[in-house]
Amino acid sequence: MADVVIIGAGVVGAAAAMELSKYKLDIVLLERENDVAVGTTKANSAILHAGYDPRPGTLMARLNVRGAVLAKEYCAALDVPYRQCGSMVLAFSEKEEDTLRELLDRGVKNGVPGLEILSGDEARAREPALADTVAAALWAPTAAVVSPWELCLAFAETAVRNGAELKLNTAVTGVERAGDGWLVHTNRGDIGTRYVVNAAGVDSDAVHDMVAEHSFDIRPSRGEYYLLDKAEGTRVNTVVFQCPSERGKGVLVSPTVHGNLIVGPNAEGSDKHDLATTAGGLDFVRETARLSVPGVDFSKSIRNFAGVRANTGRDDFIIGVAAPGFVDLAGICSPGLTSAPAIGEYAVELLAGEGLPLEKKDDFIFERRRIRFKELPEEERRALVERDPAYGRIICRCETVTEGEILACLRTPIPPVSVDGVKRRVNAGMGRCQGGFCAPRVVEILSRELGVSPGEIVKDRAGMNILVGETKGGDADV
Ligand SMILES: Cc1cc2nc3c(=O)[nH]c(=O)nc-3n(C[C@H](O)[C@H](O)[C@H](O)COP(=O)(O)OP(=O)(O)OC[C@H]3O[C@@H](n4cnc5c(N)ncnc54)[C@H](O)[C@@H]3O)c2cc1C
Repeated sequence: MADVVIIGAGVVGAAAAMELSKYKLDIVLLERENDVAVGTTKANSAILHAGYDPRPGTLMARLNVRGAVLAKEYCAALDVPYRQCGSMVLAFSEKEEDTLRELLDRGVKNGVPGLEILSGDEARAREPALADTVAAALWAPTAAVVSPWELCLAFAETAVRNGAELKLNTAVTGVERAGDGWLVHTNRGDIGTRYVVNAAGVDSDAVHDMVAEHSFDIRPSRGEYYLLDKAEGTRVNTVVFQCPSERGKGVLVSPTVHGNLIVGPNAEGSDKHDLATTAGGLDFVRETARLSVPGVDFSKSIRNFAGVRANTGRDDFIIGVAAPGFVDLAGICSPGLTSAPAIGEYAVELLAGEGLPLEKKDDFIFERRRIRFKELPEEERRALVERDPAYGRIICRCETVTEGEILACLRTPIPPVSVDGVKRRVNAGMGRCQGGFCAPRVVEILSRELGVSPGEIVKDRAGMNILVGETKGGDADV
């Protein structure tokens, strides 16, 4: 019997698993997909918000500010790409300047350091690409950009390295009371456990309903984005927001931690799993972003994508004990990525309150490093290639990713099984050609190393096979 079963391996479930793995506990992390970080965690703005937005006194305000501090510390310890570039919220009218003052006041109450209101000219002096119509800006120096899927991977890998068991392709279909604990039903059999954590993202309402009265609905809201080539990556150097409204934090223009420019999102009511981008949504994103930064060159777009917010209509996360020994980490909308490390800590606190005994491990492993060939000085590259010639074979030309790095990620605690899984770990396929060049070679490496036929390799989720048949000569059609 497990001590704790966590349902969902997005950044929230992974953070909870990592925090729990600091203690002598039997932890099982369940994920219905073939990898971690494939839900909302992989499709968002990737901002670590400073914390002036949530209403003071809410759980969201506390967890946002604490999460931003922890995320910075954890990114450094676990080798996750992170850049503290600061953010600006722009005001274009007197009414919006009032909103900035309100946000400043909230931020001060929430304990956000260094907030300052800049005049339009001061803002433009820092960000010359801003529109002439910008009247003022709220400057938040602690905001940062991060690699969201690497943050989740780092948490999940750390949990696994410290003894947690990750079960992929395992969908929870029901949870029922069994003695003092719970029986978790999955498509791969039942798991007995003393405690359960619900971190099921947009499906956290359905998982809650498995054990308790229906008390909230996830009201999914889709956000669509442009990702622009690195040629546009320095158009702005800080995260540029517009004033928030009931519909969300508005359309932002921001550098990414990988050197690209991200622009979006809009906010449209949607199905929970509808990740479509639409002509209308993208038109809105383009036109709205140009109000802040008129010069963005959208002809440099390399990808569009969408993510779905787990909104609930409340202005707080839904975190608490839903039934004895069953904790909800539900309705984790934005700023859930930022708050995740603090939500993980809080989950442990709630479980302890439910009687989970906590005895610290003295051999907790809290380190993680990966070789990024592209970032090494010439001498180190040479030495590495001499030691291991696989580092001399460039697989992704846009991002300079070597076969050595791909082989190394296949030896990590959570090895990838898909082309996008490789991309999330080593950036192969993230560049200008979006995998046009390297995807067939990644398929070849995965097929060879996993000992399966190329036809079985998927792009991302199960069923997304890339090769669909064989030509007469025996070569597969792409
Ligand atoms: C458009 C957009 C922009 C955003 N921008 C930001 C931002 O800039 N900064 C920020 O801090 N936050 C942002 N967020 C919010 C942030 O992305 C989310 O709060 C966070 O990723 C939620 O993580 P999660 O682990 O709760 O959910 P998910 O990542 O969705 O993980 C839940 C997991 O549970 C699994 N699951 C569900 N049901 C089951 C089941 N029955 N059995 C097994 N597994 C199951 C799913 O497959 C999934 O992998 C944004 C969100 C969106 C949509």
